[in-house]
Amino acid sequence: MQVPPFSLSKQLAELGPDLDEAVLRVLRSGQYIGGTEVKAFEESFANKICVPHVVGCNSGTDALILALRALDIGPGDEVITSSFSFFATAEAISAVGALPVFVDVEPGNYLIDLNQIEGAITKATRAILPVHLFGCPVDMKKLMGIARKYHLKVIEDCAQASGAQFNGQPVGSWGDVGCFSFFPTKNLGAGGDAGAVATHESEIARRVREMAVHGMPRRYVHTNLGYNSRLDAIQAAILNVKLPRLIDWVNQRKEIALRYQELLSDVPGLDLPVKYAQDKMVHAWNQFVVRVKSCPDRLSSANKELNASDISQSYGLPDSFSRDLLKEKLQEEGVSTIIYYPIPIHLQKAYKELGYKPGSLLVTETLCSEVLSLPIFPEITDSQQEKVVQTLRNLLS
Ligand SMILES: *Cc1c(COP(=O)(O)O)cnc(C)c1O
Repeated sequence: MQVPPFSLSKQLAELGPDLDEAVLRVLRSGQYIGGTEVKAFEESFANKICVPHVVGCNSGTDALILALRALDIGPGDEVITSSFSFFATAEAISAVGALPVFVDVEPGNYLIDLNQIEGAITKATRAILPVHLFGCPVDMKKLMGIARKYHLKVIEDCAQASGAQFNGQPVGSWGDVGCFSFFPTKNLGAGGDAGAVATHESEIARRVREMAVHGMPRRYVHTNLGYNSRLDAIQAAILNVKLPRLIDWVNQRKEIALRYQELLSDVPGLDLPVKYAQDKMVHAWNQFVVRVKSCPDRLSSANKELNASDISQSYGLPDSFSRDLLKEKLQEEGVSTIIYYPIPIHLQKAYKELGYKPGSLLVTETLCSEVLSLPIFPEITDSQQEKVVQTLRNLLS
């Protein structure tokens, strides 16, 4: 039996007829850009996440860029975020000419360490950009408190967290702006690239909408330099079919995560993501990420030649041998896993000029050498999940 890290085949089998119909309906309508599907999706997604305004766009990356631009963040401004994220989080800050300032993350939930934010605030700081990484909501109550105290804007990176809530309130509805991605592997995935910006403020929504269409409030009148970043009607139609399923899918992910927590709790050498007691918090479990702390001697001495840790060496990160070895061995047994993320953003070559050195964000760097994402998707079967657990147990015990 093979266990993929992610698979859409069952979802497609189930939704196939509805998706066929939706896509053909758009093609036959001749309304490929904007129109009723886009409007319907924007309205129902806004409803789902409890904000008055949602503007669809081309991708989660564009959502971040449009949000930053709409808040007038640009050259000379600093934005505080975490380095343990997908590259686009920081790339968007740089794309508008601002400077990403990284603080470390917490070791148990992998999220921005709220206790380190105040220390990173300078006169140039304009905003905080928290990432609800792997679907786990940041403590937005506390974060909004810090933002208010220092008059900072808040842009939530909700790319991995569609369906997550903190304190009973959906992510993306806390900050000035929430940015979503509908990349196919996210909790709510389109049939290609797609994204959205969510906000309570009509003026921000208006600016985002304008900027996403060449800074053009009226046909051929350009008041700003913008982008071409619209949500395609076909993608909107696909999202309209899938959105009503989101809550069920998140609940299924939650069950899978709970089962991993339970079945893996006594496997040596693994640290599991922290458990949450708070009943008003919804973790959307886009990923189930464990930390590989060690492999048994039996395994490592038999595979000494398999020194796969070139990334950790060349980037000055802690040794990732145990994690890399475990990943390799799982793969040999048919269990595919993914490393989100092997290199922290602050040490990427693209950010050489920022001058971060190895050792500057210790938790982030350690995580990059230890993390491993186990297969998780709503349709994973019990026997597939048992295989993941049993293979881990066999290898690590
Ligand atoms: C996927 C992702 C993005 C970017 O979204 P795209 O739709 O791929 O552009 C941004 N931030 C995080 C944390 C992501 O996971």
